[in-house]
Order: sequence, then structure tokens, then C-alpha cells
Amino acid sequence: MKDCIFCKIGSGEIPCLKVFEDEMTLAFMDIAKDVDGHILVIPKAHYKNILDCEPDALSAVAATVKKVSLHLTENCGYEGVNLLNASEECAGQSVPHFHIHIIPRKSKDGIDGWPHFDGAKEDIRTVFEKVRM
Ligand code: 5GP
Ligand code: ZN
Repeated sequence: MKDCIFCKIGSGEIPCLKVFEDEMTLAFMDIAKDVDGHILVIPKAHYKNILDCEPDALSAVAATVKKVSLHLTENCGYEGVNLLNASEECAGQSVPHFHIHIIPRKSKDGIDGWPHFDGAKEDIRTVFEKVRM
């Protein structure tokens, strides 16, 4: 998609620090400098986020997330990962091309890898009745 930064990274038009690549996906270093080892996994095809991503592309992204996560834990000295995704601006998505963040973790690494929630405002059963499928 024209003017999409991650499409340009996926096609090689804009350089990145490439961790892994296959036909449908790319894993590369996030430039945020917020936490060591921050990696993004994207489909090369443009989807805005989880809500419009086609099943084949989503499966390919999931397979690459697993491959990179196993590499981090088996070969790079990490012990686990946090996986993060924001879909839509209301959820904090800033780049409108689907991506999964991988944050490599070690015990006692001091990283707070989980969002800080303020506490539920609605009764769990009220929400359950709204969201059950
Ligand atoms: P979001 O807020 O959409 O979940 O995450 C977008 C991520 O993309 C951010 O962590 C940001 O640092 C990263 N990012 C934005 N522009 C670029 C770029 O040009 N190159 C790389 N490698 N990462 C980027
Ligand atoms: Zn794109």
C-alpha cells in the first residue's frame, strides 16, 4: 500500500534490521529503543490489523512469531517472550499495518511487560453477557 511505512520495509524499499524473512512475513528490530530486543513481525501484504487480516496471512505471521520466539529462547539466552498487539487507534495502534511486538524476556530482567490496567468498572457477568459468542 502506497505511503505505508511497513509495506515499504516489507518490500525492502526502506531498510530495516532484518531478523527473519520468508515469503509472506518479515521480522525486524523495532526502532523504539524502549526495551532490549524489541522485534516486530509483519505480513508483507498490507492489512491494517487483526480485524482485516486474512487467515492465511495471520497464520503465516503466527508461525513467524513462534519461529522467532523459539530462536530467542533456544539460541539467544532469553527464557520467554511477551507478545503485544494494538488493533485500531483506540487500542494504541500507531502504525496502521498489522504487526505483533515480540519482547524477549529473562527472569529478573526488570522489564514490566504487561499493561497497567486501572481495574474493571463493570461486573464480570454483565460484560460476559455482552461478549459471549
Ligand atoms: P504500534 O504502536 O502500532 O503498536 O507500534 C508501532 C511500532 O513501530 C512502534 O514500536 C515503533 O517504534 C515502530 N516503528 C515505527 N516506525 C518504524 C520504522 O520506520 N522502523 C522500525 N523498525 N520500527 C518502526
Ligand atoms: Zn502496509
